[in-house]
Amino acid sequence: MSEHAGRYAPSPSGDLHFGNLRTGLIAWLFARRTGRTFLLRVEDIDTQRSTIDSAHRQIDDLLTLGLTFDGDILYQSERFPAYQRALDMLTARGLVYECYCSRKDIQDSARAPHTPAGSYPGTCRDLSEGEREQRRQALAQEGRTPALRLRADVDEFTIRDFYHGDYTTEVDDFVLRRGGQAPDWAYNLAVVVDDGFQGIDQVVRGDDLLSSTPRQAYLATLLGLEVPEYAHVPLVVNAQGQRLAKRDGAVTLREMLLDEPVHRVVEKLAASLGYPGVNTLLKLRDAFDPADLPREPLVWR
Ligand code: GLU
Repeated sequence: MSEHAGRYAPSPSGDLHFGNLRTGLIAWLFARRTGRTFLLRVEDIDTQRSTIDSAHRQIDDLLTLGLTFDGDILYQSERFPAYQRALDMLTARGLVYECYCSRKDIQDSARAPHTPAGSYPGTCRDLSEGEREQRRQALAQEGRTPALRLRADVDEFTIRDFYHGDYTTEVDDFVLRRGGQAPDWAYNLAVVVDDGFQGIDQVVRGDDLLSSTPRQAYLATLLGLEVPEYAHVPLVVNAQGQRLAKRDGAVTLREMLLDEPVHRVVEKLAASLGYPGVNTLLKLRDAFDPADLPREPLVWR
């Protein structure tokens, strides 16, 4: 297998729909045309929303479409010890601190001037040990544990994206592990640790994740991991311009296959990438040029 790898990383919380399949297909095309290994990762980190049944159905869907994967499938739900090791490494270097803020605390303080919407204003960054103990105990009385945040030592970070060029966003002290009643690993940590572990050097995914990417790339550098090359692709949206969802009609592969054979679905996917009339993945692989990809969100009809 090649030392270079791409991946597709769906969250198993429902059957794959046209938008998911299109993104997965583009990731596969990018990987295959550059001779990369292509890996599948089941992003079942959110144990409330993910089910193993859904993961199996998604894998079946991808195989039905004809997407081929190499190596073992990685399940995030089995990776918690690896996330803990990464957290321990960062903690040992003084790069992690406890945060006792509620969502409301953060919203309120984010209204202050100079803080971009949604970013953490650093309320708990420089508390004394005495203040920490007090807040820890107050949370414990409510049965909650503190969140853990990265002590970021940059204000912003720049990544390079195939479609978006040099792309910079603010890097705040983002969450590594959520607190509350059931502490949860944060996606930004998991994705970096897993991409590093799987040797992923090409990340192709929906552009809804673009704004999180500089944070992830910065974290990768802190963990001594290679920053992958990125290609964030436009999403498929409904008539209102919102990300396609099941309520938008017969959008899952399984629903589509009730009305048409799989090569028709492949043809629709190919047409959406700018290659009308192509109805096999192999022909599509030969025709595919990433520069041809339409740059606007695709409106589902
Ligand atoms: N699991 C994410 C999703 O299904 C994809 C994340 C990624 O590709 O990094 O939207």
